Amino acid sequence: MLHRTRLIVLGRQGAGKGTQCARLAARLSVPHVSTGDLFRAEAADGTEIGRRAAAYLDAGALVPDDLVLDLVAGRLGGPDARALGYLLDGFPRTLAQGQALFEVLGSGAADIAVELHVPTSVVLPRLAARRVCQDCGANSRAGPGDPDVTKCDQCGGTVTRRTDDTDEAIHRRLATYDRESRPLLDWLDDRDLLVRVDGVGDPDVVHQRLLDAVRNRIPAIDDV
Ligand code: AMP
Repeated sequence: MLHRTRLIVLGRQGAGKGTQCARLAARLSVPHVSTGDLFRAEAADGTEIGRRAAAYLDAGALVPDDLVLDLVAGRLGGPDARALGYLLDGFPRTLAQGQALFEVLGSGAADIAVELHVPTSVVLPRLAARRVCQDCGANSRAGPGDPDVTKCDQCGGTVTRRTDDTDEAIHRRLATYDRESRPLLDWLDDRDLLVRVDGVGDPDVVHQRLLDAVRNRIPAIDDV
């Protein structure tokens, strides 16, 4: 029988979370719900939520909770998430968001919360080198001395830095994560939901560590 898996993945920006979450969600056959991706899509489409969130995104600041909760409620109410569960990437980010998630969905809101841990000395250069294609969304890495704007290997589109990957915004986002997410991590730990996974190393090895952590906690998905 299909187990409805509900995961939260937390981690500082540059921990490789987006890539690992996409891969883990595909492996577990659950929808990958990234609030950052959802906000960027809303902003690109010029929707009401997107317009209200855009200034926060560009500044690397957290979008107000009411807007985030509207966005997430809409996404988790969809038929795929109701049937299959979800992998939450980038939400919850604060204690208030975590409490709201469990208040709305009950104690089964998450089977496990994984923190993908990578030290600052590793994430800073990764973020400075990160590039994203404006057309197909593919992530790539700039080498030393590479220009800020290049052509996408995959689709020929325009590859640039994310608007919130400027040095100032990177520092602000890392500081915000440490300040806002720490109480959330402690709260999840008190509920015995939190598992910390080392995010340093070859992406295949990190993927396996994540999978092992999830399988340990949810034996029903042992056969994926
Ligand atoms: P990310 O791609 O996860 O780094 O998110 C990019 C930006 O989206 C963040 O810097 C915030 O402005 C916004 N955002 C994403 N998720 C949340 C959230 N759970 N709470 C508040 N703001 C968020």
